[in-house]
Amino acid sequence: MPFRDECGVFGISPATEASRQTYLGLYALQHRGQEAAGICSRDKGQLFLHKDQGYVADIFDEATLDSLPGDAAIGHTRYSTTGGNVASAAHPFLIHGRFGQVSLCHNGNLTNTERLRAKLIEAGHTFTSPSDSEVILALINRAEADTLEGAVLETLRQIEGAFSLLILTEDALMATRDPHGFRPLAMGSLGSGVVFASETCAFDLVGAQYTRDVEPGELVVCRAGGCTSEFPRPKVQAKPCVFEHVYFARPDSLVYGLTVAATRRAMGRLLAQRHPVEADMVVPVPDSGVAAALGYAEESGIPFEFGMIRNHYVGRTFIEPKQNIRSFGVKVKLNPVRSLVAGKRVVLVDDSIVRGTTSKKIVQMVREAGAKEVHLRISSPPTTHSCFYGIDTPSREQLIASSRDNEAIRAFVDADSLGYLTLEDLQQAVSDEQRGQGFCYACFTGDYAVDPEGAKLAAPGLAPFQD
Ligand code: SF4
Repeated sequence: MPFRDECGVFGISPATEASRQTYLGLYALQHRGQEAAGICSRDKGQLFLHKDQGYVADIFDEATLDSLPGDAAIGHTRYSTTGGNVASAAHPFLIHGRFGQVSLCHNGNLTNTERLRAKLIEAGHTFTSPSDSEVILALINRAEADTLEGAVLETLRQIEGAFSLLILTEDALMATRDPHGFRPLAMGSLGSGVVFASETCAFDLVGAQYTRDVEPGELVVCRAGGCTSEFPRPKVQAKPCVFEHVYFARPDSLVYGLTVAATRRAMGRLLAQRHPVEADMVVPVPDSGVAAALGYAEESGIPFEFGMIRNHYVGRTFIEPKQNIRSFGVKVKLNPVRSLVAGKRVVLVDDSIVRGTTSKKIVQMVREAGAKEVHLRISSPPTTHSCFYGIDTPSREQLIASSRDNEAIRAFVDADSLGYLTLEDLQQAVSDEQRGQGFCYACFTGDYAVDPEGAKLAAPGLAPFQD
């Protein structure tokens, strides 16, 4: 089972009912963060904000959307990578400062937050939350430049790590990605307006057309007269997160110009070539394992079956029975179809193994449902290192593949066989060589493009990793 999700951003300008369009965009991006959401809109140069903890559908209603007037808006769905799951860390952030009202939302994780925060506090700044996004706004407000755009450029030269940002000001909508482009950010059009989103599935819901990605290191500034583009820092090798294709993004999204459903299917086909096995059925661990399982079934000729069902309605918190029920946390989300798997040799396809405890429970569930054999296939390489670029991961010691080899992991999860995709296979599935783009593979290799020193992996209050 995967790492925890990150965040989703959406922005639009100009558009009729901009906040309602943003609400729809956030709905499509709900899978990227379920802990909080917010929208900031602009009407005649004035900014309006509403944000809260919870799901998008629970936070906004007719009245709250009516309180967000205007023809421009940005929004955010949040999973706490830094800042903990506290209301004060919900996005967007809004300040009234030197450049008037400025609002910001952020997908990513700065790696030099603590140093910047300490300097700002030294200079007399006070913070209302532990969020690194507030640090970015403080830097903009305290920049030496005397224009807002100059202050944003100055800030972008100081912050390190992973950031896809949307900034709404009294007269502009800005979008930017860090120089390595760790996190995605797509650009599109809707009528005469410009639209930005973490994933293109948000464009589909509002009827926008995908134009291109905001490039790594690019700052796009859109005003009434149109959009301009500049690159505040020297270009470096792009390192977009490959895990977006393994797990995070929705299969119907285009991420870095590649269809996620197609790359996942290719991972499954390569996995079948790499680790064939005699079996009666291929069963995905839903939902993220589905496309790779289809690819495995296609390549191997073994029938695909929905032999495991996911309950999509499990909230952020559920109340467990007081008496300890074995594997309850997994059972509430996943349940095997007994009539399908009983007496069968099952190939179970999942996207990743993190600590191994969830995989062990899933294998056990399938065995208890009567499966004769369970062969676990993982559509990514062993995750041996933590992520410092916007994904919540356990510390390295807790990653099972950081200290155990394949056979030891197989024995731990109690599968009849275990096979991972190789790094080369993953690179092939995302057409890395042909594109010459390069991806971040650091959680599989430990090859970090930006020094993670000082990155705050787990802030106080961060929700514990569920695996
Ligand atoms: Fe993505 Fe892994 Fe790189 Fe983090 S370390 S950005 S999860 S590929």
